[in-house]
Amino acid sequence: MKSATNRLIGTVIGTILLPLIIYSVYEISSVKEDEEMIEKVYRDQLDAIIFSINQFSNDNISGLLDKIQNGLKGDLSFNESEPYLDYSSIHTLVFEDLTNSKTKVVRIIGDTTDHVEWKHLQDSILLANPDLKTQLIRYKEGGYRKIAPKGTISEANDRMQVVHAVIDNGDHNVFITAFISIAGFANNVLAPKLQQIAEGDLIITLGYRDSDQYVYVTDSLNKEVMLSKSMWLIPSLDVGISSSNKTVSELVAERTQYNLIAAFILIFLLVFGFSLVIRNIRREVNLAQTKADFVSNVSHELRTPLSLISMFAETLMLNRFNSEEKRKEYEEIIFKETNRLTNIVNKILNFSQIEAEKRIYNPSSVNMNNLVKELMHDYSYHIERNGFEYSVNLYPELPIVQVDKEALYEALVNLVDNSIKYSPNEKFISIETSTRDNAVWVEVADRGMGIPTDRIHQIFDKFYRVTEGNVQTTRGAGLGLALVSHIVDSHGGDIEVDSTPGKGSKFRLVFYLDNHG
Ligand code: ADP
Repeated sequence: MKSATNRLIGTVIGTILLPLIIYSVYEISSVKEDEEMIEKVYRDQLDAIIFSINQFSNDNISGLLDKIQNGLKGDLSFNESEPYLDYSSIHTLVFEDLTNSKTKVVRIIGDTTDHVEWKHLQDSILLANPDLKTQLIRYKEGGYRKIAPKGTISEANDRMQVVHAVIDNGDHNVFITAFISIAGFANNVLAPKLQQIAEGDLIITLGYRDSDQYVYVTDSLNKEVMLSKSMWLIPSLDVGISSSNKTVSELVAERTQYNLIAAFILIFLLVFGFSLVIRNIRREVNLAQTKADFVSNVSHELRTPLSLISMFAETLMLNRFNSEEKRKEYEEIIFKETNRLTNIVNKILNFSQIEAEKRIYNPSSVNMNNLVKELMHDYSYHIERNGFEYSVNLYPELPIVQVDKEALYEALVNLVDNSIKYSPNEKFISIETSTRDNAVWVEVADRGMGIPTDRIHQIFDKFYRVTEGNVQTTRGAGLGLALVSHIVDSHGGDIEVDSTPGKGSKFRLVFYLDNHG
């Protein structure tokens, strides 16, 4: 039976619990990978946002070049008061007609005097980048107007990004160098776009790469910047992004925490559920075991008196006795064993009535002292015949209780029987009645083998028998105390057990006076 349970438990562990735990552990270990993936996806999204900001800057400058190209005349003059230039943040433009080498400097911000200086600035940049012009011409002839950022200059408090391109002027190529105010571009051109992108969820920053100074931020920055990249057209300027709510690492940490908690709860529930299943299986198996024991115990209990009756009846029938005394003794044995059989059968019948919930108790006014006297009248001979001494202590003027007299008598008989059965050495039984606040009690005590403390809570279970010590050699079906317990419970009473192994046991049945159960 035990090995069957163990096999069942093993199967449940092997087929359900183990795979689920492995799966949960795998889930926990893959949490990190998942989080890394989420972080990557998030970073890709931020990347895409920065890409769109760069694209927007390019489109803006490119559109400006289109407009300049459209308005440009043969002598490189164009309407310099065009309103679009006011918002472009272009500080100065330097033109050079690549066909006739004619040059022109146009100051858009500030005074219009020191044109030569700007031409020199352009020259020095070109000197440092000797291939720039030819490269841009090659791109242009390939059908692509590239805008090349080359050179930065500081002008008063402002920094300027210098960008270069080759545009058309009729059939002439014109090399154009634009000095763009970085702060102006950031605040006038990019700011509205950045605000639109950020929309309260993100914080976008524009800051110089070589200092921790910001040129523009969409909102006050109180979080670390999650991703930062330099701008295509203004390489000295970094675009940074952070979340206005939580940073990626905060989000990731939070998610990891949630996932771990969920996984642990899952494992806990699994283990908890599994232990419940195991407990139920154990209980069922134990019940099956006790039922099997019960059948064998009852058969054993019935067989002994039956074989005695049969043996002595046969002896009497065949007149195989040599004295009248012997004949009387054999008849007595038959009578005693018949009584025992009746008792066993009654016990089983009463028990099956209880099981079928058909046992009915009929309480009446009972004087517990009288009941004990009745019991001793019927049982003292039996007790003495078994080698026991006894004492009876009855409380004078014991209050009357409302109980089913026959049932209570049966309960006491069971207790006395047990005391006889489980007192192999010191054979002494004491029966006592008394009162305590609003209750009457009757106690049966012995000086027998006692009950191990950790078993006391089980002895009232049906079919239960203590398996240690020499209890096994004593006959019984494990029903007596189950019957006693049912009887007392049905009267709203209590059973108190006080037992010490090797010293003896006391069973006290307590009935309450205001209970008419
Ligand atoms: P049974 O006596 O038929 O085995 P019971 O239900 O009357 O069944 O008792 C259950 C178990 O409690 C017994 O098997 C025995 O181990 C223990 N027990 C009951 N009464 C006593 C007692 N007076 N002294 C020692 N053990 C007892």
